[in-house]
This record gives sequence, C-alpha cells and structure tokens, in this order.
Amino acid sequence: MAKVTIDGIEIEVPEGTTILQAARLIGPEVAPPAMCYHSKLKTSGGYCRTCLVEVTKGSEKDPRPMPKLVPSCRTTIMDGMEVGNKSSAKVVEARKGVVEFLLLNHPLDCPICDQAGECHLQDLSYENGTAKTRTDFERRTFNKIDIGSKIQLHMTRCILCYRCVKVADQITDKRIHGVLNRGEASEISTYIENVVENDFSGNVIDVCPVGALTDKTFRFKSRVWFTKPMQAHRDCDKCTGKVNLWFKGEEVLRVTGRKDQWGEVEEFICNTCRFDKKKTSDWTVEKPAPINHHSVISANHYEVFVKPTEFKLNVVKPLSIEEKAN
Ligand code: SF4
Repeated sequence: MAKVTIDGIEIEVPEGTTILQAARLIGPEVAPPAMCYHSKLKTSGGYCRTCLVEVTKGSEKDPRPMPKLVPSCRTTIMDGMEVGNKSSAKVVEARKGVVEFLLLNHPLDCPICDQAGECHLQDLSYENGTAKTRTDFERRTFNKIDIGSKIQLHMTRCILCYRCVKVADQITDKRIHGVLNRGEASEISTYIENVVENDFSGNVIDVCPVGALTDKTFRFKSRVWFTKPMQAHRDCDKCTGKVNLWFKGEEVLRVTGRKDQWGEVEEFICNTCRFDKKKTSDWTVEKPAPINHHSVISANHYEVFVKPTEFKLNVVKPLSIEEKAN
C-alpha cells in the first residue's frame, strides 16, 4: 500500500493505482474530470488532457515536484506523493485552456443536441471553462453518417476521445473503424458504418462523452431531463440484461447501459436489449436509476451514489495555513 495526498486529503491505496483512481476513491470533490478515460476500457486515457494535475511532491524518497502537469489517468502514485487538483491554480488555469481547445471545433449546438443534459463536455465547460471564446475561426464540419439504421455519427461533435474505437476493439469481435489522419485533420474513419454488424456495437453510443454518436431510435424524441431512468433487467443470452430504461409516461423511449457515478458504463449491453426491447413488458423494472452527475437530470429526486469503499480510506483533515507554517 502507498499513501497519497490529493488536495490535502490523504488516502492509502495499493501500489500501481493511478492518481485518478485514488482521487475517485476519495470522492467527487477531488476527482479530476475525464473525457477519454473509461475504467472498463483498456488503454483508454491520455488523449484529452482534462485530468491534468500538479504533483507538488513526487514521493517520500524523492520529494522533488514534477516539472509539468501530468495526466492523472496515466500516472501511478508513489508513496508520499502530494497532488494538487482543484486546489492548484496551475491546474485550474490549464483546465480552462483544455476546455477552450476542446471547444475550438465542437459546435455549440446544445439546444438541438440529443446529448444535452448528459454531455460530459457540457458539464466540463460549465465547471471549468470560460464564458468567452477567443477564436472566431469557423469550426470544421462534417456530414452526418448513418451507422446502420440505429446509430448516427455526427463527426462535427466528436472530440476524438477514442472511446468508441476502444469499444469496437475490445467489446465487439472485430474493429473496422479508427481515427484517420493527424492533428486538425483527424477524424473517425467513415468505415465506422461497418461496425453495426456486431451485437455490441450500440455501446459506442453509451461511451461517447458528447453527442457525436447518438441512438437513432431516440433522436429528437425527448429532452433527456423530461425522461425517467429506471433500472431494469431481463434474461438475455448475449449480455447480462441489466439496463436503464428511459421512460416518458408509460413509454420506453430508449434503453442504455447502466452508468456509474463517473458516467462510465458498468456493463456493456447487446443490441437486442438496446434496440429491440422497447416494451415495458419485456423487462422486470427494479427501481429508479441512481443519477449523480452534474447534469440537469439529477435535479429530480433520484437516489444518490454511495462512495466506493473497496480500499481503506484514511481521510486526514487538510492543514490550515498556520499549521502548514509550523
Ligand atoms: S465519436 Fe464519440 S466516442 Fe468516438 S472518438 Fe468521437 S467523441 Fe469519442
């Protein structure tokens, strides 16, 4: 086990834990935001830079600070490490810059975007961005692409987080799409259309942090905050059959995988559950889905998430300025 202090809160975690995982164990108050990291997808993270943190003390053995901000999703903790996230002025400033970069080409079409209300970029920009943009260049645009009859790719909104690529790689049996080109010319390959052949392709919708990949069976049917998410399950021979049903009145408008408090899919579901089982009678409805995201959906009275307690939490009160001086 190793001790790490994040924003003045100490926690003991197993060696090999990343700073981001350790911060999540403390709780949302210190956890850095993450757009590309997804704990269920191997090798995710390291692309979007939203989770940058400042390491003010490297370790007990070598207390020198790290010279640059580091991505917390890819940096493992060392015993005695001290990390600044929300308490670090450098991090706050850098995160503003990252939001500005992500929005350089992302359209501000939230009023007509299906992801509005559950979009990680929307939350990120509200919480960490600035009210003004310094660019007046035209944003790049792409035509919408239908990925079969159920999924639509709107590349204009893509922030190139690679999550859908990892899903195709790791959850479906064959990846046929990826990111083409470099820098400003990067785009998700149009070969993504072919991914629909697979039973688990619908999961690209759930992992997409923005509105680039949307469920065509749900598009424009309702704003998400007018729906009621309920946990439900059914016997399925392809997946666990554990889903969230999004009701409007008695009608099931969409079916998604369940997400944890970080907005990550808990268990990937198959396309049959997602697209073909839209009747309440197909499901055993359990209870309201817990929603603890910053979005407007949580403005209702859904259950809140309980903090994970897998590892021993050793919460130490942050030192006051006078105590630090002593
Ligand atoms: S389409 Fe969505 S999930 Fe895929 S890279 Fe773009 S933002 Fe990420």
